[in-house]
Amino acid sequence: MQASMFNVRVPLEQVGQGDDVFLMNTFTDAQLIVSRDVAALLDRVGSDAPQGLTPDERGALTTLAEQGFVVPDRESERKYLEGYFRDVRESTDRLRITVLTTLQCNFACDYCFQGDHGDYNKTAAKMTLETAARVADWTEERLDTLKPESFVLTLFGGEPLLNLPVAYYLAERLWSSAQERGVQMILNVITNGLLLTPDVVDRLVPFGLNAVKVTLDGDHDTHNRMRPLRGGQGTFDKIIENVRRVAHKCRISIGGNFDETSVDSYPALLDFLREQEFADKLARVAFKPIIREPKPQAPKGLIPLTVISDGGKPLNGTCMTSAGGGTSICDSCNFLDEKMTFLREETKKHGFSTVDGVHMGPCEIHRQHAHTIGPDGALYACPGFTGDPQQSTGHIDGRLDARRETAATRFAAIAAWKNCDDCAFIPVCAGGCSVAAHTELGDMNRPNCHKSSFEAGVISLARDAAAREFTTIN
Ligand code: SF4
Ligand code: SF4
Repeated sequence: MQASMFNVRVPLEQVGQGDDVFLMNTFTDAQLIVSRDVAALLDRVGSDAPQGLTPDERGALTTLAEQGFVVPDRESERKYLEGYFRDVRESTDRLRITVLTTLQCNFACDYCFQGDHGDYNKTAAKMTLETAARVADWTEERLDTLKPESFVLTLFGGEPLLNLPVAYYLAERLWSSAQERGVQMILNVITNGLLLTPDVVDRLVPFGLNAVKVTLDGDHDTHNRMRPLRGGQGTFDKIIENVRRVAHKCRISIGGNFDETSVDSYPALLDFLREQEFADKLARVAFKPIIREPKPQAPKGLIPLTVISDGGKPLNGTCMTSAGGGTSICDSCNFLDEKMTFLREETKKHGFSTVDGVHMGPCEIHRQHAHTIGPDGALYACPGFTGDPQQSTGHIDGRLDARRETAATRFAAIAAWKNCDDCAFIPVCAGGCSVAAHTELGDMNRPNCHKSSFEAGVISLARDAAAREFTTIN
């Protein structure tokens, strides 16, 4: 008998909430508030049950064991962990497909290599209806083979609403495909919000539209500086107007990208959002740092993040508003611990639902049945690797060459968490973002560690638990 390696604890005096201790097990997700004596009992658990226990202590130990805080031994716990990642990888419960309808964008974000800069927008790839039909054929084959309970289709880009014929075609056809097979379909759209009209939403709602994620990069002036049109015109007012017109029709999440120059404007953005009549309709608000291409002489104060790239070249794939950073598309990568924590707490204070900083993964790169499809039909293991042909794992037409086979084998073997020793956060982190590891460390199979951010997330959970009526073991 042994205390689980996935136990984390926060003495509640640390958050000004009394003498008890908040316990969490990241593997079972059990959360308890216990007395200091019970917490100390966990320290006494060795290879055998501690001797001389009172009936109360024996009862407490039984409860702790039932909830996974006490395990038979380390070896069996490691086997559970291996089995857990195997189950995540092989699960057929849900098929997840992200389609980049185009790499074109109508914004000229200052941090983005993509978008409407120079003539790139004219040459960026755009999915044709013929390719979309083949994407649908391929997806139907996956549905028939896997027989999942649910199917998540995410439309992404570039700016996905710049290719409405493909967006509508895929939504409508795959909705029918799912219906015919008795599979629940969930449709998500990740957009910059400029073209998010009631007509678009009305057209997609009958085909399972679940949520639309819109990006705001700070308050009015900051957003307009960060996310202008090519001519420099601001986009904030138009996006807010669009959100106002559709917020009662579908779930809207707000995402945002920050750097040192914009992070301080987020409280003003949160104040502004709170005042809007659609505030209570926002399903989630979450922010993440901008990924920037390293510059030789970065201005003082710029957060030193690196672009998603190999050899300094951008991948030219998904929109930088989400690639390598936001749920997902992922909220779990490249986060700056201290600023993320600050913005998360601010968001909660304003009454918005947000990520809790602990339940972050494993992300879709660990799932065999999660695919990203580029405008040309190339397959990728996750949105953060799109646009780099070296990282393509296959193609919807079934073509397989040595390069793709090698990439597929490489992604199937990703398990950075195996280098994380006894870290208590492995079940919810899985070793961090592989895109960030690839970029920053040159090896997608090395841990990209933001442990302090998880620790801050647990403290935040403890504070919330203590503020609620919560199960207490004395
Ligand atoms: S590897 Fe990074 S970018 Fe890719 S799905 Fe995971 S968290 Fe997201
Ligand atoms: S990357 Fe860091 S926080 Fe994540 S599991 Fe590994 S050691 Fe833990």
